[in-house]
Amino acid sequence: MTNKPSDFAKTSSNADAMPKTDSQWQEKLTPEKYRVMRQKGTELPFTGKLLNNKESGKYICAGCGTVLFSSEAKFDSGSGWPSFYAANKDTILAKPDTSHGMTRVEVVCRKCGGHLGHVFDDGPGPDGKRYCINSVCLEFKKK
Ligand SMILES: [Zn+2]
Repeated sequence: MTNKPSDFAKTSSNADAMPKTDSQWQEKLTPEKYRVMRQKGTELPFTGKLLNNKESGKYICAGCGTVLFSSEAKFDSGSGWPSFYAANKDTILAKPDTSHGMTRVEVVCRKCGGHLGHVFDDGPGPDGKRYCINSVCLEFKKK
């Protein structure tokens, strides 16, 4: 942390700190986060540190800190990845993904464009969505 006079504005916007190039992201993220978030990788199932987290709070983007999911929508899907039946629709973006010979819907962070996981139509919530998210893409903020 520096004490530049401009730091007073950082609570309203941290856009200046956002990496812009691939190599900047590589510096900011751990190798595993970089592999999953910037190269659309997938962490091994049942390995994520937030998989069994049952505390109340918010799940934020590991790339930029945007709030993406609430603990209220988290459920145990048995898939091996943290799963949510609802997302913060203002901060996530769902887009078609036809890689690996499958047609899926990819979930990315709207702010930093980081890959988060996929969304499927077999969730237990009111709109039937299941957001299957790599734990490594998330940080947890306790309420
Ligand atoms: Zn982000």
